[in-house]
Amino acid sequence: MNILVINAGSSSLKYQLFDMTTQEVRAKGLCERIGIDGKFKHEANGKKVTGDTPMATHADAIRHLTKMLLDEEYGVIKSMSEIDAVGHRVLHGGQKFSESVLVDEKVIAAIEECIPLGPLHNPANLMGIHACEEVMPGVPQVAVFDTAFHQSMPKSSYVYAIPYEYYEKYGVRRYGFHGTSHRYVSAKAIELLGGKAEGTKIITCHLGNGSSLAAVKDGKCFDTSMGLTPLEGVPMGTRSGSMDPAIVEFIANHDNLTPSETLTMLNKKSGVLGISGVSSDFRDLDEAAAAGNDRAQLALDIFAYNVKKYIGSYVAALGGADAIVFTAGVGENSAEMRAKITEGLEYLGIEIDQEKNAVRGTVDITGAGSKVKVFVIPTNEELVIASDTEEIVSALNK
Ligand code: AMP
Repeated sequence: MNILVINAGSSSLKYQLFDMTTQEVRAKGLCERIGIDGKFKHEANGKKVTGDTPMATHADAIRHLTKMLLDEEYGVIKSMSEIDAVGHRVLHGGQKFSESVLVDEKVIAAIEECIPLGPLHNPANLMGIHACEEVMPGVPQVAVFDTAFHQSMPKSSYVYAIPYEYYEKYGVRRYGFHGTSHRYVSAKAIELLGGKAEGTKIITCHLGNGSSLAAVKDGKCFDTSMGLTPLEGVPMGTRSGSMDPAIVEFIANHDNLTPSETLTMLNKKSGVLGISGVSSDFRDLDEAAAAGNDRAQLALDIFAYNVKKYIGSYVAALGGADAIVFTAGVGENSAEMRAKITEGLEYLGIEIDQEKNAVRGTVDITGAGSKVKVFVIPTNEELVIASDTEEIVSALNK
């Protein structure tokens, strides 16, 4: 089965075509500047191509990518009928979706109802779905939600300590994000722990440009660091993470900002970028810190300290831990950051093997005396989307 995985943003669209018999990515690419002019990157058959092509709408982007998939040189299929189904990443499923679903009119209406919760992403995700309906009518589509994995949290993890009516009236609660990633790496960790989800306690650290942690009990999400929006939790590339909410009004008053301008500052200009004044990119920060930039070093210190605090709180929340998992850009690639985060956690039974940690690609970096396993597991959200799509579409054909 060939599954096309789509991640549609407001002016961009990423895609991967999976052959599910081998789980191999046969082609992938990116359409950018949709609605502005149109640029693309495409990769298949060991070749890469980039260029400009007008893309007024998301449907134009889908038409372009299907053209690339059918191309003599860069293509991998002979006819559109070889695309069996499409899987879409959808940011916010609110309280309506705890798993992936086949897209129909009702699902589209429910994703629309979640727009107030994901005002930037959900409309873009819907554009991707509508564009596929237009360009490849009749091909089954599946929606995979970033929030779905976290729907198993107990109320004590997701209700905020504000008047309860805001939860009841507006659905103000913790939803959590990166769910597809936390689900994938926690399932892989369960395999490494022996394969039985029941009784396992795992802390997953998705550390990238956006970062979140999850406490996973019996294979189900018990708590997570992001909240109503992805702004809560640890400091990130450009997001502040958790802080005293009174800061919003304090800065707004001083700098004459609207609430929305203040939130933009907290989403786009804060985090390690805001602290360092150097970059939101951790590699740039490593370089600047090594060259003696104190604020770049401070940004790295604050990031590590906050991740460490979350790990400690999740060990307490779960009543122990069997494994800590590091994933995403920073979690998978930065041995220094993993060492910094786990330093001093020996009291909790968490130790890493410094030599194993330094070797790229090592999955199990657990220290000799450690009670808790420490794993580095590359995430693969696209594969989860493709697998869910295959499962749902295969069930239809039975
Ligand atoms: P992601 O959002 O998961 O793609 O992660 C992107 C972040 O990972 C960027 O801040 C990168 O600088 C960071 N990253 C990737 N490779 C490394 C590395 N070898 N060392 C430190 N940070 C890295």
